[in-house]
Amino acid sequence: MILPIVAYGDPVLKRMADEIDEDYDGLKELIDNMFETMYNAQGVGLAAPQIGKSIRLFIVDGSPFAEQEEGQEPDPKAVGMEDFKQVFINPIIEEEEGESWGFHEGCLSIPKIREEVQRKSKVRITYYDRDWNFKDETYEGYAARIIQHEYDHVEGILFTDKISPLKRKLLNKKLSNITKGIVDVDYKMKFPNKKGR
Ligand code: ZN
Repeated sequence: MILPIVAYGDPVLKRMADEIDEDYDGLKELIDNMFETMYNAQGVGLAAPQIGKSIRLFIVDGSPFAEQEEGQEPDPKAVGMEDFKQVFINPIIEEEEGESWGFHEGCLSIPKIREEVQRKSKVRITYYDRDWNFKDETYEGYAARIIQHEYDHVEGILFTDKISPLKRKLLNKKLSNITKGIVDVDYKMKFPNKKGR
C-alpha cells in the first residue's frame, strides 16, 4: 500500500523518533509499505517520520546510483550500490570520519529542491535488520550519504537544516509553498498547511 509522504513543515519531521521493540505491531507490513511508497516516488531512501510515524526506522535502495552511462569511468562512490537495499531499525551512528564532501541532496518530503550538503565520507552504524539481526557495519560513498540523510530524519533533522542561513533564506518562499501544497509533485503527499482539506 502506498502511503502519503509527509511534507516539509509537519512537526513529525522535527521530532526525535522513538526506538521500537521486535514485536512492534505490523512492522513487516509497514516495511513493505514503505518500500512500495519509496519506489513509487522514485526515492533511494525513506524514513518512518516521512510517513508520519515517529519511530527509529528507515529503508534504503541505492541501486539507481549503480547505473552507469556507457563508456563512463566507474564512480568509486557507487561501488556496491547495486545490492544496497536494506532496512535499518533502531540505528545508531557510532562514528563518522573521513574528509567531508559536498553532494546535491534532495528529499521526498521537500520536493523540487536540491542543495549541496557537506558530510563526512565514512560512517559506522549499528542497527537491527528486517529479521532483527544486530549489525555493526561501515559504509562509504553514496551508501554512507544515503544513510546519513535518512538517519537525520529519525533524529528530527532535515537537509535544509544543514545549509547556510543565507541559502535557506533564499528557499523560504518555496519551503512555505511546500507546506501549503503549492508544489507540482507526482506522488501522494500530506501537506501540513493545505487549505480546504
Ligand atoms: Zn529526506
